Amino acid sequence: MNIYSDPTFDMACRQLDRVAERLGMPDSERERLKAPKRSLVVAVPVRMDDGTTRVFSGYRVQHHLTLGPTKGGIRYHPEVSLGEVAALAMWMSWKCALAGLPYGGAKGGVTVDPRSLSAGELERLTRRFTQELVGFIGPQLDIPAPDMGTNEQTMAWMMDTFSVHAGHSVPGVVTGKPVGIGGSLGRREATGRGVAYLAGRAMDTLGVQASGGTAVVQGYGNVGAIAAHSLSRQGLRILAVSDVHGGIHNTRGLDMPRVDAWALEHGTLRGFPDADPITNSDLLELPCDVLAPCAMERQITGMNAPRLRCRILAEGANGPTTPEADAVLEARDDVFVIPDILCNAGGVVVSYFEWVQGLQSFFWTEGEVMDRLFRILEGAFNQTLQLARRDQVSMRTAALTLGIRRVWEAKRVRGLFP
Ligand code: NAD
Repeated sequence: MNIYSDPTFDMACRQLDRVAERLGMPDSERERLKAPKRSLVVAVPVRMDDGTTRVFSGYRVQHHLTLGPTKGGIRYHPEVSLGEVAALAMWMSWKCALAGLPYGGAKGGVTVDPRSLSAGELERLTRRFTQELVGFIGPQLDIPAPDMGTNEQTMAWMMDTFSVHAGHSVPGVVTGKPVGIGGSLGRREATGRGVAYLAGRAMDTLGVQASGGTAVVQGYGNVGAIAAHSLSRQGLRILAVSDVHGGIHNTRGLDMPRVDAWALEHGTLRGFPDADPITNSDLLELPCDVLAPCAMERQITGMNAPRLRCRILAEGANGPTTPEADAVLEARDDVFVIPDILCNAGGVVVSYFEWVQGLQSFFWTEGEVMDRLFRILEGAFNQTLQLARRDQVSMRTAALTLGIRRVWEAKRVRGLFP
């Protein structure tokens, strides 16, 4: 499996091995669950604004095809690699199975810093990447969505390019589209709102009062900003937030509308008045009720896990906590972890709603979307908590067990093909 060799893929495999061991899964079946079913690596040549041509690397990995089409985001980030995308695809598989969605996991990405490209360059990059994916994606095959560095506009370009090839509009090829071209109300907010909803459930479980509580959020993008606002609406004080350049911190709580206005005007949180600067690593160690890492993988490690001072770790990002950090947190027993595949599942759940609404050409109100979303998250949270308590295992092990077992069982009854 060395074409996927990468620290994040290694981390996903170690998590799978641990659960497979618990489930008594034979080695051969474990290998089937580990190996991504298929992967596509493409060169994406793009004409730059200055007339030169640059060639970017693009990836799409479909982890398993056993339960339906595959589903997962498209990431634009300088650290995107085949191994990272494969790990994220595997996590999508367990996440979809945990939430009971009829999908296998997928992920895609381009190794690029999207902030260094003009809008025109980004459009040409997206359209060319999509062109390379024609034949590999589709409403019944594999359905991309936004992830880090991509957004509704990216999805609109992907849908348009795919539709040009098909000769008619194919809105179901992506989710996370603008509402005006078949997107779902509530999709943009779904992941962050889900993070805050589940943090609220964890507070209920621990008997922590939301009103007067405190939260710290790493990553102020789609997931982090919405999570911060939703937590603030629940009555928590937001002590610190950050982006790739670093964080801002105020023990009295940040004025969130002013933070938004600053970020919009300056494109960064840096320099925000009424707050002290703080590094991304120091921010993780602030005392708070809810710590929500909503940026990159492998932020909480064996080194800093002993120094976390939160009551609840709400993993908005995918893979923010390494297996070494998990071991520390399990031994500490004073941090309640809402694992990524549960905590950030709101995005793919509403993507599923968008896909269903599109297939039926029958659209729901935002209230209906949110109501159905919270019901699914509630069910997944309760099942995970119940298993964790019954088997005396961590919330992560319980969530992974539920997701992995469902995929394993589906593979067993179907046979070798998918
Ligand atoms: P985004 O691009 O909208 O925002 C990412 C944020 O993280 C930005 O504020 C960026 O400045 C910051 N950031 C980037 N690198 C960083 C670093 N090294 N340290 C600190 N901050 C950094 O992305 P997003 O869609 O909000 O995704 C964030 C995370 O949530 C990712 O792990 C993604 O896989 C996960 N996720 C996203 C969705 C979704 O619906 N968008 C769903 C599930 C999971």
